[in-house]
Amino acid sequence: MDMVLFGPPGAGKGTQAKKLVDMLKVPQISTGDMMRAERASGSELGKKFDSYMSQGLLVPDELVLELIDKRLSEPDAAGGAIFDGYPRTVAQAQALDALLTKKGRKIDVVPSIEVSLQEMIDRIVERRMCQSCGQIYHLRYNPPPSSDKCQCGGELIQRKDDTEEVVRKRNQEYEEKTAPILKYYGDKGLVKPVDGVGSLDEITERIKKAVGI
Ligand code: AMP
Repeated sequence: MDMVLFGPPGAGKGTQAKKLVDMLKVPQISTGDMMRAERASGSELGKKFDSYMSQGLLVPDELVLELIDKRLSEPDAAGGAIFDGYPRTVAQAQALDALLTKKGRKIDVVPSIEVSLQEMIDRIVERRMCQSCGQIYHLRYNPPPSSDKCQCGGELIQRKDDTEEVVRKRNQEYEEKTAPILKYYGDKGLVKPVDGVGSLDEITERIKKAVGI
């Protein structure tokens, strides 16, 4: 199955994608995670990504396409994927369709996790991420075993772009460039709205029901 897990920043896409991976037996493909890994490597490409990410701006489509093209060619992605934080523009959605068509595949479903701007800000500023395994926590709603350690023993960090100011910019980019994707997929009858407020398990159940798994 190829699924686009859609929603604004802080909707819980990454957390839910990780929960769905085991059930669907397909990998999570998060362009945000891939860009953070590239940035951590200190490469020139990583520095380029950072110049957009640290301001809450979208990375240009052509750079994203290169990343996805490579990732989709890896063997674990041969039978489907859960796309998280990608596509972010209609041009990216069209490019993804073209890549999948070449492989005889298509996007099957687009669960759209819905949350308000205030909810997004509340979630994001208290979000913590494990530097080693990528596990995501929220200091109140999904607390880690200790305030600075993950269950795997890795160190917890706050993402550089998880400040209220950058979140507002990310939301503006979302409204202008990403939200129009809903019409693109909506016209194909693929969008399944999911209420994104509730416990992590409740939201997983809503997604499973919406996509019929
Ligand atoms: P995320 O981890 O999905 O919240 O993404 C964090 C940041 O990475 C975004 O604010 C963008 O700067 C960049 N980014 C991630 N995915 C994409 C994408 N598909 N297109 C453009 N920029 C992206």
